[in-house]
Amino acid sequence: FVKSSVIEGTKLEEDSDQEDADEKDMLKRELQDERKTLPIYKFRDELLKAVEEFQVIVIVGETGSGKTTQIPQYLHEAGYTAKGKVACTQPRRVAAMSVAARVSQEMGVKLGHEVGYSIRFEDCTSEKTLIKYMTDGMLLREFLGEPDLASYSVVMVDEAHERTLSTDILFGLVKDISRFRPDLKLLISSATLDAEKFSDYFDSAPIFKIPGRRYPVEVHYTKAPEADYIDAAIVTVLQIHVTQSPGDILVFLTGQEEIETIDEILKHRTRGLGTKIAELLICPIYANLPTELQAKIFEPTPEGARKVVLATNIAETSLTIDGIKYVVDPGFCKIKSYNPRTGMESLLINPISKASANQRAGRSGRTGPGKCFRLYTSYNYMHDLEDNTVPEIQRTNLANVVLTLKSLGIHDLVNFDFMDPPPSEALLKALEQLFALSALNSRGELTKTGRRMAEFPLDPMLSKMLVASEKYKCSDEAISIASMLSVGNSIFYRPKDKQVHADNARLNFHTGNVGDHIALLNVYNSWRETDYSTQWCYENYIQVRSMKRARDIRDQLEGLLERVEIEVSSNASDLDAIKKAITSGFFHHSARLQKNGSYRTVKNPQTVFIHPSSGLAQVLPRWAIYHELVLTTKEYMRQVTELKPDWLVEIAPHYYQLKDVDDAGSKKLPKGEGRAAL
Ligand code: ADP
Ligand code: MG
Repeated sequence: FVKSSVIEGTKLEEDSDQEDADEKDMLKRELQDERKTLPIYKFRDELLKAVEEFQVIVIVGETGSGKTTQIPQYLHEAGYTAKGKVACTQPRRVAAMSVAARVSQEMGVKLGHEVGYSIRFEDCTSEKTLIKYMTDGMLLREFLGEPDLASYSVVMVDEAHERTLSTDILFGLVKDISRFRPDLKLLISSATLDAEKFSDYFDSAPIFKIPGRRYPVEVHYTKAPEADYIDAAIVTVLQIHVTQSPGDILVFLTGQEEIETIDEILKHRTRGLGTKIAELLICPIYANLPTELQAKIFEPTPEGARKVVLATNIAETSLTIDGIKYVVDPGFCKIKSYNPRTGMESLLINPISKASANQRAGRSGRTGPGKCFRLYTSYNYMHDLEDNTVPEIQRTNLANVVLTLKSLGIHDLVNFDFMDPPPSEALLKALEQLFALSALNSRGELTKTGRRMAEFPLDPMLSKMLVASEKYKCSDEAISIASMLSVGNSIFYRPKDKQVHADNARLNFHTGNVGDHIALLNVYNSWRETDYSTQWCYENYIQVRSMKRARDIRDQLEGLLERVEIEVSSNASDLDAIKKAITSGFFHHSARLQKNGSYRTVKNPQTVFIHPSSGLAQVLPRWAIYHELVLTTKEYMRQVTELKPDWLVEIAPHYYQLKDVDDAGSKKLPKGEGRAAL
């Protein structure tokens, strides 16, 4: 009896499952047909033959030809996944997620099962996973646990032309393991034509070209340089919308803030035009955009409407949006720059390269003839733009990579097989910095502290803060602060019409001028006390989504603490202990107040200011320690905490001497002498 009812139940369920399955099947069939229309499809068999024959292949193909979504599937269909997973690396988080979602749909499987993705702090894979999209940084970290990548049968380093730091390091590592793992296949794929260089590097690996279809693109320049490219971009979008034939618009911007500004202004202006014009759908896309909204850019534009995608560089080659006919290119992107002399890193808005400009233009000519509106002059293009972007390895702080390589047992960094070596000054600076953080000893060998630091997927300074929190018995607070810092600058919400309320709510967390780090901790702890209440977030102008992300990150950091055998202990009442833990990681970032209200960084003197958003912006402590520098109108310190100068000597005696922090001395001397002491 019981048995039969169970059977009944199962059967019923199967029926409704069946309907779902039918629908899924239909979608899958549709997508299967679509797959066959991609340019790469014609080369499927030839490509598979080449993979069989050669261990390393360089693949070049126009963006949108199907490299990222199709090649891993072809390999799966050809049986490679029976021997091990197929990895496909992406320089950007959003690309890894979005492409994995697409491929899981095409294969008709649940995301995270056969097809998954792995990005920092988010692992959407399972035992079942055969095709794994991941950021290049994540694959780099996988070497730590599995130095021969034994669980993989194929590694595809995708978007190789982007030359991110992690991709460049991966090149060296995969080239090395390919020598003792002849069964491991390597695919290096790139959207641009610098394939020869990749081929040379990989011992003359064959180059497989996928001819893309590309329609003519009409390029328009402005007659004179634009004073305000944001405004120019808005005007151009509206002009296209009212004067040009149907087709979607793609605008390249430098970051979330710019995108949000333009989004708002465009909405406002089109509302003003009422029903006189067709509907304009605005779709933003940037790294921190919530996943649900990311999918929106791929939805087909409804009949009669026009879509405008406001994107960061991510749409240059990583993501292909069908239906784009117009590109608006202001000619800028955010780029990291690093001064190895001072060890200072900042994110700057810079002109793009010619190669980028051409990629951007090409996005309009994928499905038909397109138009690209460059918001700069043809003279600018010809004479001011560099040919190519400098690889990241030559313009970034290398401390993180050096720590990873050292943990992998690679000691001789000078002779590491770099495709383009980093400046030796930068390498030296990284070694120096890691030595100062006690991650390396004077012979350049990894210390116990260094080994523990390498376990955390964080910058060395943050990792050091966590390791040091053991000594100050405040690891609970340290991981909360690290998680909040890792979320980025999206904790506080400041709607235009409620700025005063929002600012007041924010100041509550700063009571006692505790500094920005402790304020972040206060936010986290208060939220935790409300049992992670959403309502509480609304009331305090805090972004719920960011807080949830902080909680996820925190959970993972807590797990890693356990792995490096640091007990979770709380020392909430002793703020100095917490600040000392912060100082243990960030002592390089110290600054001293000047008479005019500016600050001077203590080592490698440079003038900096407290960011207006800081809780200490009006307080101006004599000594400060900061999380990062951002250059906008001035060089600003973001996330600032007051510091007692003796801590520097106490915590980093090999880096600071008494004379560096001698407050009294500078008072006695005639003006300007504090500086001479440095
Ligand atoms: P490539 O890597 O050569 O640039 P892709 O494999 O990324 O090309 O893209 C192939 C096709 O898949 C494009 O037409 C693109 O629009 C589509 N596609 C990729 N990701 C998605 C997605 N998340 N949703 C819908 N379509 C997508
Ligand atoms: Mg791609």
